[in-house]
Amino acid sequence: MQKHDDSVINVPSLPVAFLDVDTQKDFIRSDGCLSIKGAGNIVTNLGKLCAYALENRVAWFASMDSHVPGDTEISEAPDYDTTFPPHCMNLSEGEERIPETFRQHPLIFDIEFQYLDKPWSYFEENYDSIVFKKNNFDVFSNKNFDQFLTLVRPKVFVVFGVATDFCVRRAVEGLCSRKFKTVVVKDAVFAINQETERKLFDEWERQGIKLMATEEVIDMEPREFEKLF
Ligand SMILES: [Zn+2]
Repeated sequence: MQKHDDSVINVPSLPVAFLDVDTQKDFIRSDGCLSIKGAGNIVTNLGKLCAYALENRVAWFASMDSHVPGDTEISEAPDYDTTFPPHCMNLSEGEERIPETFRQHPLIFDIEFQYLDKPWSYFEENYDSIVFKKNNFDVFSNKNFDQFLTLVRPKVFVVFGVATDFCVRRAVEGLCSRKFKTVVVKDAVFAINQETERKLFDEWERQGIKLMATEEVIDMEPREFEKLF
């Protein structure tokens, strides 16, 4: 009897995948609806990471903040901790990615769960990025992301974007709780509160998360990332 060969049906794990957190106009542009002061300083590095990923065919996942009026996070009297003024409103210009991280052929998943019935090779051939909408701080609230992680099982995740102390933090925590080896690109993230970012960097290093500069990341071969851990 012929033995069932798992390697034929399972795609090999990706050596590395990138996670771009919320690099949207409303957060990064100085005239954005929820502009993070100083975040414009990371756009050059975001562009370098994007170019590296395209050139090396590194899988590009992204979270996309997307709101409708009435979302719990949106308030006309915001406390800037759990509630914020209207931002990244559905179909507004501010919801779009900045030019440095914009991709021509994204596959954008709404928050509702959609069962995937195709292999990774299909997505890789037809799209240049996989984007997950969310209406809170946590990209993992979009269950389609977990479904993709099961499909492609990246060995290492490289994370960047905004804001370090809100959505990046939740993404990093979610990846770590799922046992992914994680790199945070320290000069391609930006926080609302710089002091909180410093504390998070220390905490993450203690937890075994690697903090790297953009130049260090783009100097590596995709297969080398696993050796960092
Ligand atoms: Zn939001």
